[in-house]
Amino acid sequence: MRKLGTWMLCFIAIFWISVGGCQRPVVHSPEVQRYGSQRFTVPEPAEISPPIVAMPQIPFGNPWKPSVAARDWKHIVIHHTASEGGSVATIHAEHLNRKDKNGNNWKGIGYHFLIGNGTGMGDGEIEPTFRWKKQMQGAHAGNDEYNQHGIGICLVGNFQDHRPSAAQLASIKRLVGVLKREYGLKSSQVVGHKDVKATACPGKMFPLTEIALSEDVPFFSSRDAQSSPSLLSIAGGASE
Ligand SMILES: [Zn+2]
Repeated sequence: MRKLGTWMLCFIAIFWISVGGCQRPVVHSPEVQRYGSQRFTVPEPAEISPPIVAMPQIPFGNPWKPSVAARDWKHIVIHHTASEGGSVATIHAEHLNRKDKNGNNWKGIGYHFLIGNGTGMGDGEIEPTFRWKKQMQGAHAGNDEYNQHGIGICLVGNFQDHRPSAAQLASIKRLVGVLKREYGLKSSQVVGHKDVKATACPGKMFPLTEIALSEDVPFFSSRDAQSSPSLLSIAGGASE
């Protein structure tokens, strides 16, 4: 009898454990942290703010070297769009509707380079246009000498009201420095549109003198990289 009682107890115990083991586990819903009436959540990594100023990444050397023979450049002419936003595409569409003094339609955007401000293009982004790639004359100066022999660089923004962004200033300095070195231009050959035509362009807040003095860092210039064996070896060596 006692043996049977023991067996019964074991049977009941096994039955109880197996039924209990099949019960659905209790799932706790995630708790929301509260402090007073405020609710706190931990931000996802993607929500963490980016750095305050993201400077444009421009390759060393002269990344804008055209694949066709260089034009006889004698000037750099700087402009602003006098608008708060813009891109090569929007200005190209606008300039296609303009006519020259002979009544012919422009071929498209009149500048050789455009530097964005974050609205329409990246902040400090430098984009060469078809006129630069094909080494064509510009349609930007309202002055034949400066259209034929002036590299037209336009920055998006209205610099009658405010200065260019930090990223735009870094980019224009780099671009002007590289172009001066590549084409043997002096600081005095870097002018604002207002120096060659009656206009406010590129605006009274544009630091023209500072930009005209820009120099390409010799170590990183393409000309030095081609002519100096020591720089070539530092850069990883070059085949003969
Ligand atoms: Zn202008």
